[in-house]
Amino acid sequence: MRLYLFQLGSLQPPGIPVPGYLIQTGDGRNVLVDTGFPHAFIANPPDRPGPQNTRIQVLEEDYVVNRLAQIGLTVNDIDILVSTHFDPDHAGNHALFGNAEIVVQRAHYEAAKAGHERLQRTRDQWDATGLRYRFVDGDTQLLPGIELIETSGHVIGHQSLLVRLPHTGPVLLAIDAIMNSQMTDADTRTLTPADEDEAQTRASTRKLAELVAREGVTLSIYGHDPKQWPTQALAGVLRLNPFMKPRLQIALALIIRGDEVLVQRRASDADHLPDVWEFPGGKIEPNETPEQAAIREAREEVGLEIEIVRALEVIEWDYPERTVVLHPFEARVVSGEVVGAKWILKRELKTDDFPGANRNLIEMLNGSDEDSSS
Ligand SMILES: [Zn+2]
Repeated sequence: MRLYLFQLGSLQPPGIPVPGYLIQTGDGRNVLVDTGFPHAFIANPPDRPGPQNTRIQVLEEDYVVNRLAQIGLTVNDIDILVSTHFDPDHAGNHALFGNAEIVVQRAHYEAAKAGHERLQRTRDQWDATGLRYRFVDGDTQLLPGIELIETSGHVIGHQSLLVRLPHTGPVLLAIDAIMNSQMTDADTRTLTPADEDEAQTRASTRKLAELVAREGVTLSIYGHDPKQWPTQALAGVLRLNPFMKPRLQIALALIIRGDEVLVQRRASDADHLPDVWEFPGGKIEPNETPEQAAIREAREEVGLEIEIVRALEVIEWDYPERTVVLHPFEARVVSGEVVGAKWILKRELKTDDFPGANRNLIEMLNGSDEDSSS
């Protein structure tokens, strides 16, 4: 299971994000959470300022259709749309998702249908003909690893989500029950003019705090947090956040034995670049040099003690969702038995089997047979 964070617009200044989320399940289902501001806001944002005198900004790339396209999806690929509530920054494009099952709290939908005033702003979207709804009542498991948490207060029938990611652990998408990190304490938190019921807002904040403690939540993502959104704290799950791409420093060990080099295959459930071939290596920890990281990774990943022969040129590479800075080293085996990797002739390596960032390394290895350092 993977979690993508999309930016679907912002309030300027100071850059308060309007997020959406996409959860891809292990069995290939796409669950979208919210759809952002209406498309019309790109060309014609409302004249009236948003909360705290902010101005709504929706860039072309912020449009949910374009965000989905960035990871190769169309609106028809969305199986389930979780609608947290019908405010314009969350439900502005629901009418596009006629193919999806739209999951909303029954109390919210019924209030909207009955004329709840603020929810009429997006009525053309959530009440469009042909939409397929599934109503839920209170806390509900949507799919294995995805739970809907009823958090009324901001508005009746608002919902948050708990997503259990395989590597990161349980992640809370608080949505507008907790808009930023200053609103986590139920008793002392501030409320916004948009929070319609103070007692319920505090009760829902308390409910989420208890859930965080009980479930061992490793990351709480707040609904509209200009400080948290661009930070490294989100880098583990962060995708397609134009505020900041994570920049990962990676050490690589090109372990050479005669005409061969040691390669391994990435796990098919890896968050990034599943199934491709790669060289042993990984993230450089804050307290180590790139050489030390290459040596440690070789020990941990393929069971070998190695020594560094020489440092190769540093490679910086942009993926859509992250930048990697590779620190490759040519190395040789000192001792140990290979685990989980195999020796391949250098000239038989194919660039297509490896991450794009490795292209130059592969070409160098392909052409380096004469050099028989053994
Ligand atoms: Zn909101």
